[in-house]
Amino acid sequence: MDNFNETGLNPEILKAIAEIGFEKPTPVQEKTIPWLLETNTDLVALAQTGTGKTAAFGLPILHKINVKDNTPQALVLCPTRELAMQITKDISNFSKYISGFSVVPVYGGAPITGQMKDLKKGAHMVVGTPGRILDLIKRKVLRLNKIGWLVLDEADEMLNMGFKDDIDTILAETPSERQTLLFSATMPGEIERISKQYMNNPGKIEIGKRNAGAENVSHEYFIVHAKDRYETLKRLADVNPDIYGIVFCRTRQETKEVADKLMQDGYNADALHGDLSQAQRDYVMNRFRLKHLQILVATDVAARGLDVNDLTHVINYDLPDDLEVYVHRSGRTGRAGKSGISCSIIHMREVGKMRELERITRKNFELKKVPGGREICEKQLFKLVDKVEKIQFDDNQIDSYLPVIFKKLEWLSREDLIKHFVSVEFNRFLEYYKNAPDLNVREKDTQGRGKGVQSKDRRFDKKHFSRFHINVGSKHGIKATGIIGIVNDHNPKLKIEIGKIELMRNFTFFEADKKYEQEILQSFKNANYGDVAINVSVSKSEGPKFSTEGFAERPKRSEKYGNRPRKTEGFGDKPKKKKNFYKERN
Ligand code: AMP
Repeated sequence: MDNFNETGLNPEILKAIAEIGFEKPTPVQEKTIPWLLETNTDLVALAQTGTGKTAAFGLPILHKINVKDNTPQALVLCPTRELAMQITKDISNFSKYISGFSVVPVYGGAPITGQMKDLKKGAHMVVGTPGRILDLIKRKVLRLNKIGWLVLDEADEMLNMGFKDDIDTILAETPSERQTLLFSATMPGEIERISKQYMNNPGKIEIGKRNAGAENVSHEYFIVHAKDRYETLKRLADVNPDIYGIVFCRTRQETKEVADKLMQDGYNADALHGDLSQAQRDYVMNRFRLKHLQILVATDVAARGLDVNDLTHVINYDLPDDLEVYVHRSGRTGRAGKSGISCSIIHMREVGKMRELERITRKNFELKKVPGGREICEKQLFKLVDKVEKIQFDDNQIDSYLPVIFKKLEWLSREDLIKHFVSVEFNRFLEYYKNAPDLNVREKDTQGRGKGVQSKDRRFDKKHFSRFHINVGSKHGIKATGIIGIVNDHNPKLKIEIGKIELMRNFTFFEADKKYEQEILQSFKNANYGDVAINVSVSKSEGPKFSTEGFAERPKRSEKYGNRPRKTEGFGDKPKKKKNFYKERN
């Protein structure tokens, strides 16, 4: 489907979305819109936030809704008040030319009386948080007997927030012949249960990979000592002068402290956490949305309602306990076709979590060096010079002031003059970073400290790996992460540790736990990768340059993994869920 005209949506809807500027349907829209227009079958859609879900369910429902009947026909459940307002705003925009259509948002934290009044006036679609919806049902203001569509948006988030029972009750109250659509970024067991219990043979679509981080996000991490976390954060901000990002902390206290320090140090930052009143939170979020703030320091809970599409960075000042939260955090950048970076500032002990995240997201996490003073100064200097070069000015305004300025500066050569102007802004960076230490944990330190980790992970221990040759390589479209994937997919019950992967054009070498040599060889018997019949053998050679394949291909740098062993235990496995992992801590 190349454009929206091919969907068969009403001209009123097409006109509205053309005005908004939607040209092509996004992947989730390509799949969901025809599904809803053409079938009454329930649907489970695995899709990240920011993929265009609102239009995916909103447009076809608007197409089918009966405007002449003034009772609610579509109910949208979502986790937060902010999301309810956002969805309502989007639906209002999409329905701008559908005369008589009405959508009403309902959510907690606002007086119920106003919402009751709005509902009594008549609504075709109701969008709200489960608690408030249930309240309105109990008060008999919201009647569900004519609900034809029930949408559970960000279902996993709603469960994380403890709406399980409310959702169950609401689902049980709606007519059984309704069409139910469930959108979720991840697929925990509880969602499977809901889909089995309350949905009728639902179809399933998956946009991107299960649990995958958004495609456009690159993942980086920096290993530093705990005492250097804040300094590292500052350097990341300094080396990215145009940063527009969220810094995630685990506790409210830390959120406050980090934001306060950033503000004191002259950064354009503020904090968002649960100790703020709703009005204060709205104020901070609004400033951030309008880009009056460059850096928002936030807890996971408080940031949940924030919907911003063009973040350049997500910074994990702390890693979350539950790594699924990382997937949600990083999914906040790289949205709407833009690229983004998710950085984690970690301690040596947390390196294992990076491996685990690589497994969950099936993405490569790149270890980066904390930028040094010189690199930062160069970036800042370039930014300043670029600004000077591009600054707009009005000759008429400025000309009258110039003679006196020229006179005052005439003793300076052109070069000196440039130095003076640049230094006005730049001296503070030069001064600050003059003797800036290297914050990277040195190899010496990691070896000393990491001993326990190494022996536990058998890190750098070559002896327990066998080296395999597989006849698929980059020309077949596979990446290093894909190699981990196929080894795991063919041995779903084993916990096979993967070592170094050397991806070539025509083939790949990978290391895997020696004790599973036979299982690995067996598992690829009669297996295919696309059109290629897979052939795996144990390689006796040391590396590509000694390979018997007759030529020495160099592994691509980005695809050559160090000696880091990877645990590949079941891609489908989830990290163990801690109860209330989303709860904000002090
Ligand atoms: P959502 O996942 O519904 O929150 O959408 C994420 C962002 O993508 C919103 O800013 C939408 O306005 C935008 N969007 C949704 N569909 C399209 C489309 N087909 N073309 C361009 N932008 C879109």
